[in-house]
Amino acid sequence: MNELEDPAYLAPGAVALVGAGPGDPDLLTLGAVKALRAADAVVYDALVSPEILAFIPPGRELIAAGKRGGRPSASQSDICDTLVELAREGKRVVRLKGGDPFVFGRGGEEALRLAQEGIPFRVIPGLTSGIAGPAYAGIPVTHREVNANVALITGQERAEDPEGEHLPHITRVDWEELGRIFPVLVLYMAMRNLHLVASRLLSGGRSPETPVAVIRWATTPRQETMVSTLGRVVEDSAACKMDPPAIVVIGEVVNLRKKIKWFNDREIIPPRPGE
Ligand code: SAH
Repeated sequence: MNELEDPAYLAPGAVALVGAGPGDPDLLTLGAVKALRAADAVVYDALVSPEILAFIPPGRELIAAGKRGGRPSASQSDICDTLVELAREGKRVVRLKGGDPFVFGRGGEEALRLAQEGIPFRVIPGLTSGIAGPAYAGIPVTHREVNANVALITGQERAEDPEGEHLPHITRVDWEELGRIFPVLVLYMAMRNLHLVASRLLSGGRSPETPVAVIRWATTPRQETMVSTLGRVVEDSAACKMDPPAIVVIGEVVNLRKKIKWFNDREIIPPRPGE
């Protein structure tokens, strides 16, 4: 398709903030492919899969800006500096981020910085893992008989102080209230704080029998899905080593997986001693 090869899609000296989707290259947008084909330099996150980086033509500048939870990583201001420098060198710059750049992706901060510096930019949204991930697990995040709203929540809200130190704010979230308001909660970056989140949802009145799905490496060939309950999800996740990256879906929509599961993901069955 020749229209995907369009150098004019991204002007020299401009930046595209591009969502790569959750992993499956089929979930890239045509805009993302056009931007990747046109880019001189791509600054990409650790969660972006090699199959997606393969859309970048050989010989282009590739810069890893890994920002994985808990690992040493380039600070946000370093990443913004890099984008500004590359654009000022007259390059066509793609900032490639997992999922959607504006959903827990800090794309807003990068857009603000580019706007402030007067650097032209465009935003190419991507499919977010909190919606596409459950879909690949056979779970619609809304279903008419279950919910008329859905909450997308980070389990790891952080603020950066001027020295780049991370300060957790997760305990300030009113989990009890969120659990009462939203029939379905979709959690990003929640594995580390799952004990806190689950216990506070329970103390807010959610039933321990509420179904919960944990979906790892969603939309990729190594997708693993574990179904548990709010009362058991912490021990089950530990027993089954459901490490990040994972999306947690809480609510009755999880039950639809039994009938709607279509993707050949690995079913992780928590051990039930005595059964
Ligand atoms: N902007 C991204 C989210 C970045 S935050 C988006 O819109 O999807 C990083 C978190 O996203 C991870 O901790 C995990 O909770 C989730 N995530 C991203 N890709 C994922 C995947 N393929 N499978 C499961 N979770 C994923």
